[in-house]
Amino acid sequence: MTSIPFRIGEGHDTHRLEAGRPLILGGIEVPHEKGAVGHSDADVLLHSVTDALLGAIAAGDIGELFPDTAEENRGRNSAEFVSAALQEVTRAGWQIANLDCTIFAQQPKLSPFKQLIRQNLARLLEVSVDQVNVKAKTGERVGPIGREEAVGASASVLLVR
Ligand code: MG
Repeated sequence: MTSIPFRIGEGHDTHRLEAGRPLILGGIEVPHEKGAVGHSDADVLLHSVTDALLGAIAAGDIGELFPDTAEENRGRNSAEFVSAALQEVTRAGWQIANLDCTIFAQQPKLSPFKQLIRQNLARLLEVSVDQVNVKAKTGERVGPIGREEAVGASASVLLVR
């Protein structure tokens, strides 16, 4: 194992939007007429965060840990994926320096929810709120995000020894 005292990880995810599904972002249910489709609760942001954590410790990806073919993962709360990845991070001797992430959604407007999502991420990651940042962008009305067919998220995490 390297003696370098830092590790960086990135994660990205996209989910299709469909009417009548709940839209859960960073563990917060955001009222909207459409929600994300997925095997689990389809929380695109928590999936990105999970992949960023796993990536930072070179532990593969969320699909390897929690296959979408496994019945036990159906409808599963994605906070459990984050907790499992955090456990791996801790076990490997690392702690989170900071998390920065972006949600990509044309609708709904996320500004009223960004602080709630930020606080929930800090709680899930067992860090203080000032170690977490949440950004939101639209798709500028182009592509699957802009046409409101999908939501996306990306996350970057820095770990320290
Ligand atoms: Mg996903």
